[in-house]
Amino acid sequence: MDNLTKVQRRKNMQNIRSANTKMELIVRSLLHRKGLRYRIHTKLIGKPDIVFPSKKVVVFLDSCFFHSCPYHYVEPKSNKKYWVPKIKRNVNRAKEVNRTLRKQGWKVIRIWEHQIRKNLDKVIQSISDRLA
Ligand SMILES: [Zn+2]
Repeated sequence: MDNLTKVQRRKNMQNIRSANTKMELIVRSLLHRKGLRYRIHTKLIGKPDIVFPSKKVVVFLDSCFFHSCPYHYVEPKSNKKYWVPKIKRNVNRAKEVNRTLRKQGWKVIRIWEHQIRKNLDKVIQSISDRLA
């Protein structure tokens, strides 16, 4: 049974997406405050969220839902036929993107949404350490 109306479902997805956007903005602004300069709109495969071209480091911020986090992913109750394969594709695609970028000489950092929620300072520090 589908308990959610289409409107509610769309709203849920919008909430997830806007939470992701907020998370990206927060991470970027803290990196900037630390004096770390990055690019965001690059032509790299997988569209990394943050790119440090001179250090050859890319950062992806992965949503616990869209990337099927082992701790927090909960299979959607509605519209499973759409979401389950879509999320599986995201996960496979991310692996492929990692491989390709590494082959091109990039260091790939993936950060889970829950790491950002739990310990933002640690996330910023770990990115900064990888740039050193
Ligand atoms: Zn998670």
